[in-house]
Amino acid sequence: MGRPLERLREGTRGTEWEGRLWLVGGAVRDRLLGRPAPSDLDLVMERSALEFADWCWRHRLSEIRPVTYPRFGTAMVMVDGATVELVTARSESYRADSRKPEVRPATLLEDARRRDFTVNALYENLHDGTLADPLGVGLQDLRRRVLRTPIPAEDTFEEDPLRMLRAVRFRWQIGLEPAEGLWDAIRAKRARLAIVSRERIRDELTKMLGLADADRCLNDLLETGLLELFAPELAAMRGVAQGDYHHLDVWDHTLLALRNLGPGDLVASLGVLLHDVGKPPTRSVDAEGRVRFLGHEAVGAEVAERWLREMRYPASVASQVAKLVKGHMRLMSAEEFTDSALRRLVRDFGPLLPQLLGVVEADASALRPGVRRIDVPALRERIRRLSEQAPPAALESPLSGSEIMELTGWTEGPRVGKAKAWLLERVLDGTIPPQDAEAARAALMEALRSGDLP
Ligand code: ATP
Ligand code: MG
Repeated sequence: MGRPLERLREGTRGTEWEGRLWLVGGAVRDRLLGRPAPSDLDLVMERSALEFADWCWRHRLSEIRPVTYPRFGTAMVMVDGATVELVTARSESYRADSRKPEVRPATLLEDARRRDFTVNALYENLHDGTLADPLGVGLQDLRRRVLRTPIPAEDTFEEDPLRMLRAVRFRWQIGLEPAEGLWDAIRAKRARLAIVSRERIRDELTKMLGLADADRCLNDLLETGLLELFAPELAAMRGVAQGDYHHLDVWDHTLLALRNLGPGDLVASLGVLLHDVGKPPTRSVDAEGRVRFLGHEAVGAEVAERWLREMRYPASVASQVAKLVKGHMRLMSAEEFTDSALRRLVRDFGPLLPQLLGVVEADASALRPGVRRIDVPALRERIRRLSEQAPPAALESPLSGSEIMELTGWTEGPRVGKAKAWLLERVLDGTIPPQDAEAARAALMEALRSGDLP
């Protein structure tokens, strides 16, 4: 168990809070599964969480002034760098037969019934380690790897439709089998997703993209009908048949590429997810019967950027992903890459180049088996060697504007900029060595004399 947990336990031992604090959610679930402890903790108590938050602050247990949500009886503190969510277990019981609503099992039961899944409704007493399973099925579901809602699934999803997305995520994050009827309940309640904000949907999607099974999550989103509610552009890829290089439709190709990319870099994952989003709107069949997607990368870049902004991804993420989508065909067309083409690639993509190569490699890996495909590892190696000779920062005009003016006697004006751009092109095509001012002067004077540079 991690340090934040130790701090919390020791910091409350022997106080009025001892024995009254229950860990719940990921921390309990993942420990029982033998998985690494999550960084954030959730604590339930039968007394006011607001009071406890305040106590934590006064006793220097929390590093921040608590963030409180009095309307919900919840608060957040920070212990040893970890966020700790504090929740008041509802003491008022809805059960007509409960005469003592303040009894522990009743209140934990009440709390458990409001949670999303039975495996997330297991409680561990912070001090004596007692495990509580108020629903009575949580432990069994965890052991048998079953994803089940505490109350009838349609009610759970009706209350908070975000739980439908969490169901898809947990299924693949933990490896759970949906209980009978769970997926039908999602299909029945999917339209409720309309009341969930784009930000919350985005956060769930981002978590899914961080999983090794991101492709399976997305497929579930499509099959349940959830995807088309917030990403009709992506759902449109299903069933779009492609030409000779492909054995899969655009959707399945995209999912295979996503799987082969692997998790870890959100921009690259979104780049792969969206790389062919321009295909459905640009599909045509030419006179010879060949399937064409003319300009799909440019259309796709626009669609991707618009959709990412709708989903409230940061503008920088949206524009980087759009750049990857737009550039993903650049390496496909060429047979052989000259050093000059690679230098241009470095200049155009800069720090985004590793992600572009990731997208291109994943894309190529999902083509029809046996077709000739681009050798991305070899390309990476060549780029590495080229960058050793000339680091990306050296790919600029060897002469500054004032140096050009001094040399030519020109005054400031567009001509200076044009000369700089011309010099950069010569560096990229390899006729002037990077950062070689002498060679640049000679080349510039020669070009002006011969009229190459009007
Ligand atoms: P992870 O941190 O790996 O995503 P977690 O189970 O800890 O998993 P959190 O989002 O941290 O998930 O939430 C903590 C707990 O709060 C959950 O285990 C669940 O019991 C409850 N919970 C969170 N969100 C919801 C929700 N939308 N509806 C019902 N219960 C929820
Ligand atoms: Mg958690």
